[in-house]
Amino acid sequence: MDRSEQLFEEAKKVLPGGVNSPVRAFRAVGMAPRFITRADGAYLWDEDGRKYLDYVGSWGPMILGHNHPVIREAVEKAVKDGLSFGAPTAREVEIAELMVELVPGIEMVRMVNSGTEAVMSALRLARGATGRDKLIKFEGCYHGHSDCLLVGAGSSALAGGHPTSAGVPDVVVKDTLTAQFNDLKSVETLLEQNPGQVAAVIVEPVAANMGVVGPAPGFLEGLRTLCDKYGALLIFDEVITGFRLALGGAQAYYGVKADIVTFGKIIGGGMPVGAYCASRELMEQVAPCGAVYQAGTLSGNPVAMAAGLAQLRYLKDHPEIYTQIEDYATLLAGGLREAAERTGAPVHINQVGSLLAPFFTPTDVNTFTDAKGSDVAMYARYFAGMLERGIYLAPAQFEAMFVSAAHTQEDLSRTLEAAGAVLSSLK
Ligand code: PMP
Repeated sequence: MDRSEQLFEEAKKVLPGGVNSPVRAFRAVGMAPRFITRADGAYLWDEDGRKYLDYVGSWGPMILGHNHPVIREAVEKAVKDGLSFGAPTAREVEIAELMVELVPGIEMVRMVNSGTEAVMSALRLARGATGRDKLIKFEGCYHGHSDCLLVGAGSSALAGGHPTSAGVPDVVVKDTLTAQFNDLKSVETLLEQNPGQVAAVIVEPVAANMGVVGPAPGFLEGLRTLCDKYGALLIFDEVITGFRLALGGAQAYYGVKADIVTFGKIIGGGMPVGAYCASRELMEQVAPCGAVYQAGTLSGNPVAMAAGLAQLRYLKDHPEIYTQIEDYATLLAGGLREAAERTGAPVHINQVGSLLAPFFTPTDVNTFTDAKGSDVAMYARYFAGMLERGIYLAPAQFEAMFVSAAHTQEDLSRTLEAAGAVLSSLK
């Protein structure tokens, strides 16, 4: 037993499944997780001293790579001034001003502590502002673990075989309607069947919790049109896509405006942060201005804001990063497709910007149904083979692979070499 395996045995006695978040338990790939001691640039090190090339990037926040000196220094400086004040700070104003400058259509920001909280609060705002209760989400999209969104949820809610969680009363999800990603008709049908009742349509503009599935041409535009027609608000959950597809997120990348936008991950630079943002008119309905209550002891935490502000400023000053990470992801996707063809492995690669995912299916993957057609046992074998060769991928099929600014051409070559070997062994 190596040190990670030993730690996992100990962990299982005191943490459910040995972890504090389900996907980390490596259940979907049937092995013990690696316990990580440190990370730097594109690399992770485990308790057994093994080094891995990392394509998880803490599930998205580490767009600059791990332990970036600019962020580390900002955090170190902030820590010296105190960890939490429960009072306003200049940094909260600065990061909100920067987000308003960079993200299309938003005028105000409310900081929270996670993506889950951001989306939960955005929905409360949508319901409060419209006076309607129902919401439409897409099967296979994940929006955090708040009760009313644990219906047809993606990510590890899917990998765990619990599309809907126990402990969520029917009465709480009776207003959650589920449509199909990339199928506008399914949305319009629900809007027609529930006239004047749908507060919001919430979507991951790029579905990145069912593997990666991009929006079909016209899908996001169509959602915008439908929301306008039926008086529902359009919520883009940009917890993954925000500041990743572009500085302005998916709204800028696709040229489609949402009414409320949620963020997490990148805006915290690796610290626990989320945010929901919208027009002044909407955001002034939030307490203490308006009747939609939402609060947080640690919201806008000074250390977390220092990390996020440093990361967002760095991205703003280095916009070439977006071209680089997208180009590298395109190279990876191309190389993986070639390797699949060469080895005859039934793999289909989806890529949008710096996000990508392999599906073990011979067909195109444009819908959640297509994604579910992937051979997850084959993914598990692919994952194990890559890990053995020092490449750390998402330990589950229905997740994304994240390219960061720390990945190099050499890293990509090594990844493709490993993938070629692993894919040929899978046939
Ligand atoms: N929305 C999306 C699109 C996500 O991918 C996630 C988490 N991966 C969340 C919300 C929830 O964020 P958190 O895990 O920070 O609560």
